[in-house]
Amino acid sequence: MRWREGEGTRWLEADLPGAVASFSTRLGGFSEGRYASLNLGVLTGDDTELVVANRRRLCAALGIDPEDVVVGRQVHGAAIARHEGRQDPARWPVPKADPPECDGHVVDRSGPAALVFVADCLPVALAGPGGLAMLHCGWRGLAAGIVGAGAEQVGATAAAIGPGIGPCCYEVGDEVLAAFAPLGEGVADGRMLDLKAVAGRLLARAGVREIEDAGICTCCERETFFSHRGDGGDTGRQAGLVRGA
Ligand SMILES: [Zn+2]
Repeated sequence: MRWREGEGTRWLEADLPGAVASFSTRLGGFSEGRYASLNLGVLTGDDTELVVANRRRLCAALGIDPEDVVVGRQVHGAAIARHEGRQDPARWPVPKADPPECDGHVVDRSGPAALVFVADCLPVALAGPGGLAMLHCGWRGLAAGIVGAGAEQVGATAAAIGPGIGPCCYEVGDEVLAAFAPLGEGVADGRMLDLKAVAGRLLARAGVREIEDAGICTCCERETFFSHRGDGGDTGRQAGLVRGA
């Protein structure tokens, strides 16, 4: 994974077969205070106009059309929306009232960019002969099977895991530990859960051979990334995107 810069912001980029995955930071946007500065989430206390300006800035930096990005209302589930053609109603940059409820998107390489919002949860991009997928992976979505579902839909051979909370900062309760006990040793150390190890294990189980991990903890690097836990629950959102290259 490599760092890129443009339009006053920075982001991480990873190559996937016939695709590129991008992971945004909180740097270089218009929002202030808790949402400083490149907050992409409207379901926060931030000013929607600033969020829209941030969305346009990120699209300019990535060189993508802001009208050609699909998003959903994320509910920590395992539902994945498949987007065909160019008539999808859930486009950026101006938020729609009712985007589909889902935590993952599948697109074609010739289709729109797929985007998920994150702040500690893992953004996971997948590529395979059946298309591209972008998944929002918190513990609930991982436990509900979103990785296996996404990998199956696109026949994933490769994945990129963006910045998310690391085992250094993610203490969890019994319910969460129990959800991943079937994965065996190595995904938790005491009460410290390693979400990336969980995702990696689930990806391998789904037949994904190439897995690239940003290796960044959002809670440790709060100057660069929004962290739900690190910022006390009220914070902005960065994004993971995947599109054909
Ligand atoms: Zn950490």
